[in-house]
Amino acid sequence: MEVRFDRDTCIGMFQCVDEWDGFEKDVDDGKADLVDAEETEEDRYVVEVPEDEEFDAKFAARVCPVDAIEVYEDGEQVV
Ligand code: SF4
Repeated sequence: MEVRFDRDTCIGMFQCVDEWDGFEKDVDDGKADLVDAEETEEDRYVVEVPEDEEFDAKFAARVCPVDAIEVYEDGEQVV
């Protein structure tokens, strides 16, 4: 399972940080950071999610008020 993060869209509400350790606060930027992610294009990040963190990662995606977080399984968007 993969999380894709649009950091440009993120408005720094930090609900995702409360739900999953894969996100950290960047208070200076007013944005979340996707930990250990690869930047695939400007301000777009992707990370592979460990199996035991999948539930939390999906929850983080669901609570984002601006839909900056997407979850993909086998290439298909599930959140
Ligand atoms: S919940 Fe969404 S808007 Fe808020 S910090 Fe996380 S990614 Fe950014």
